[in-house]
Amino acid sequence: MSEQELVREGMVVSLDYVLTVEGNEVDATPADGSDPIQFILGQGQIIPGLEKALAGMTIGESKKISVEPAEAYGLSDPEAFMTLQKGDFPEEITPQVGTMFEFHDQGGHVHLATVVSLKGEDVNVDLNHPLAGKTLSFDVKVVALRPASEEELAHGHVHGAGGH
Ligand code: ZN
Repeated sequence: MSEQELVREGMVVSLDYVLTVEGNEVDATPADGSDPIQFILGQGQIIPGLEKALAGMTIGESKKISVEPAEAYGLSDPEAFMTLQKGDFPEEITPQVGTMFEFHDQGGHVHLATVVSLKGEDVNVDLNHPLAGKTLSFDVKVVALRPASEEELAHGHVHGAGGH
């Protein structure tokens, strides 16, 4: 088998996957294989643990991959919790346990925050990524593979048939 046929750095990978966390399917490409994700391996477009586990796979190969939090979305930061007031939320959002919303911090960063508990007017929220601290289980299948063009490598993303 030639190097051209293996997943490695600089290759455009088309991948079908199902992501399962704690027994629940949380994300997947269409089951009929019509819309795989595409990325250039080695460019940090996917989580580090998945990049490592995919290396060396070939077209048509399937694999179960388990990725620990440190190689995925990181550990849950116990400092990344805060208390907001119900009145801090825009009218269209009624905070309930499990409600997710975009939180803009003072440093200009946007977090996907989750409401973890409510007490009176207090709304306790978790600013960690929803998948922080979780072990991710992937069922993957490599559906296509080709070397990235010079232009794609320079841009750091995959181009479709017509360019961008
Ligand atoms: Zn481009």
